[in-house]
Amino acid sequence: VSARTPFIAGNWKMNLDHLQAVAFVQKLHWTLKEAKHDAGTVEVAVFPPFTDLRTVQTLIDADKIPFGLGAQDLSTHDSGAYTGEVSGQFLAKLDARYVIIGHSERRQYHAETDEIVAQKVQAALRHGLVPVICVGETAEDLEKFGASAVPVGQLETALADVPADADIVVAYEPVWAIGSGQAATPEQAQEVCAKLREVVGATLGPDAAARTRVLYGGSVKSGNIASFMREPDVDGALVGGASLVVDEFAAIVRFQK
Ligand code: PEP
Repeated sequence: VSARTPFIAGNWKMNLDHLQAVAFVQKLHWTLKEAKHDAGTVEVAVFPPFTDLRTVQTLIDADKIPFGLGAQDLSTHDSGAYTGEVSGQFLAKLDARYVIIGHSERRQYHAETDEIVAQKVQAALRHGLVPVICVGETAEDLEKFGASAVPVGQLETALADVPADADIVVAYEPVWAIGSGQAATPEQAQEVCAKLREVVGATLGPDAAARTRVLYGGSVKSGNIASFMREPDVDGALVGGASLVVDEFAAIVRFQK
């Protein structure tokens, strides 16, 4: 039996205000409850915009909803004159457990380099947050270097100064598959996820490689999730578009291998 509990993470991106977030989380909770989903078998986490975190945390806490909470980004700094930034210590105070780092939209539209991603991983770990480290190649990279060279390099930089016992999640998200409706094949996902697990092993050691969850992300839907979950090195999914539709996201969480 794998020690790696499957992990289904919903990245809402810049969608749902705090009132819509409450309605969404309640409906998702009831849908999974009605379907008798066993929260111990698949871990669910939601990643709302910063402005929703407090409201969602209060709801999760009050109604004992078994969802993990995460942010979509954090500052490299802990506090100070950094207008518009959000510190990992503030996220930790809100009981956020996870933080997405290095999503391709941050790399693409906000010029986040591999070095900035590495600094953000350190910032997350300083505050006890679990970084969900996103890596992946563009269509151009894929043509030039194949699938794994770019994500492997990105992960090596991100993990350079990470201690062996750190709790991290890795997400392989080919940029060409994000929001495109064109998911990678399960074989492609498996191949790169296995290489990324090797990077975790080479940098943090074999125990970390065995326990770290490696996710696939990119046009995951209820119709393809099971095919990814059947792959030995795919431990879950980071879901964008389909995480905003209650029934669809609930069906992803309830995948049957
Ligand atoms: C994402 O942005 O992390 C993602 C995987 O998006 P989508 O599921 O919409 O492709």
